[in-house]
Amino acid sequence: MSHQSGDEQYIIRGVQGATDIGVGIFARDGIARGRLIMAATSDFSLEQPDRRNIPSMSIFMQYLRLEETAQERYLALCAAKNADLERYNREVQDEKIDGKHISSLGQQSIAGKVVAIFHNNAFGYRDTATGRKMQGMLIEASRFNHSCTPNLSHTWNDELQKRTFRTIREIQDDEELTISYIPLLQRPEARSQSLFEQFGFTCNCNACDESSKFGRLSADRRTQLEDLDLDRVSPVSDSWFDTCKTMIYLLEEEGIHGWEKGEIHEQLADLYQHGGDDKSGHEHIQFAANIAYGCFGATHPIVPGLQQKLLLAQAQRTRAPWEE
Ligand SMILES: [Zn+2]
Repeated sequence: MSHQSGDEQYIIRGVQGATDIGVGIFARDGIARGRLIMAATSDFSLEQPDRRNIPSMSIFMQYLRLEETAQERYLALCAAKNADLERYNREVQDEKIDGKHISSLGQQSIAGKVVAIFHNNAFGYRDTATGRKMQGMLIEASRFNHSCTPNLSHTWNDELQKRTFRTIREIQDDEELTISYIPLLQRPEARSQSLFEQFGFTCNCNACDESSKFGRLSADRRTQLEDLDLDRVSPVSDSWFDTCKTMIYLLEEEGIHGWEKGEIHEQLADLYQHGGDDKSGHEHIQFAANIAYGCFGATHPIVPGLQQKLLLAQAQRTRAPWEE
């Protein structure tokens, strides 16, 4: 199966040799870093209630409102594990909203599948205007497969009311475009557990392939990254400089170029500036601003904030000694 839409930089097609992934999104040609690949509006979105699941009926009702072609593309998406599918099937049969039972909506035989697909694919975000936690269904973007060293970064952009997907490194001709479904700074066992429990698959990316040299080195580096990341949330200590520097080194080696790295450059910049080293502070805020721009794009609120910081750091650095 392949699907091309207009002048897109990507093509949706089958993943060669894969038995349980199926379809993915591939670059048509080489693409530079920091390019916008997709800005997607939700096909529908639903509020995520605190400590409760989104009612299955609400999900099914939204599905029924989609156009027929969108419904077809929706049903072709991956629906988690079979055990979950059976559970959702049972749940939707029992559920009632305003006295209405799911059978009154028609097509109830696929209701469990519709709900399972939603939980397996929806993107969580917070609507800043209302502060509400939401789950948005993006049918086309659901075709991005997972990698533990993804080449795209994605984020909800309130300004655009869209989720943007941007390249975080240079992409080769026909390379698969991937995102991460889980936090990346985790050891392999923790990653495979989350991926299997939440999404029902086993990752076979280069970082997860422990039969390769890269995979074995990666396992060790991610374990270190997970431990250092936990250190980082504890109160400021003298070892913070070393922690941040080691993390940046490990992230580079791992090929993780998203905001995980930008965030640490920003922290390091603060540490240097606090210690009076304006030159190093300026350098690291420059890295952070550059990474943020590539990951989020100019209209995301984080970017102007960092540009402001960059201007201040520049002024600080070029300040003449008599102005001190
Ligand atoms: Zn992996």
